[in-house]
Amino acid sequence: MSELRIRFDHVTKCFGSLCVVDDLELDIAKGEFVSLLGPSGSGKTTLLMMLAGFERPTKGRILVDGAVVDTTPTYKRDMGVVFQNYALFPHMSVGDNIAFPLQMRGVGKAEIAERVARALDMVQLSALSDRWPAQLSGGQQQRVALARALVFEPRVVLMDEPLGALDKNLREQMQLDIRALHNRLGLTIVFVTHDQSEALTMSDRIAVFNKGKIEQIGTPREIYDHPQTRFVANFIGETN
Ligand code: ADP
Repeated sequence: MSELRIRFDHVTKCFGSLCVVDDLELDIAKGEFVSLLGPSGSGKTTLLMMLAGFERPTKGRILVDGAVVDTTPTYKRDMGVVFQNYALFPHMSVGDNIAFPLQMRGVGKAEIAERVARALDMVQLSALSDRWPAQLSGGQQQRVALARALVFEPRVVLMDEPLGALDKNLREQMQLDIRALHNRLGLTIVFVTHDQSEALTMSDRIAVFNKGKIEQIGTPREIYDHPQTRFVANFIGETN
């Protein structure tokens, strides 16, 4: 395997007596695009929340570049995050929301302006830079969140159903854009989705989740052509 970036080392997460991530092991290499795919309630978001440092494992450890994940803000750890409930800053314009992680890192004004303009262009929101988040639709807000997560070209990007609120055309365009950005910058991306075709088209590897465990992990081809359990076969089969 190429250089290790992320390791889930026997990670368990319980809420009271309900354990939603169960003794899970997963290694993700530098520059890999890994999708966590599975039905609702299978523990995908919880795993991502722990990787972001928003939740702590009940048991086990999560390492990024050899260091145990803690509660340091994600942008300081060079991590971009797009969570459904991780809102934009309501008192900042769209442009300022996107500029925020760059300002926090002390990037110069001219470079910030240039990078924010490029990020806005990528999510097709150049005309809305001066609006407030509350003036945008759900899909537009989601695109701002994407731009904010990608603008500082972090080494790791975590995305939880980032394209869910977008219409079909824009969704397909953003799938291509995210994939292109991943290739160009060598980003490590962990991408949560319940959409089989999205995972199959975007990922280097797919981890299929079932009840807090990885049922099977492999390339899209392996998962599609050689599902190893009935659960995986049925879940992937739902695409057709
Ligand atoms: P997925 O992302 O695969 O839909 P989640 O990780 O969101 O799954 O949820 C897995 C299970 O954990 C669900 O049954 C959910 O209700 C439960 N859960 C998630 N967060 C909490 C919490 N903070 N407190 C209690 N239960 C939770």
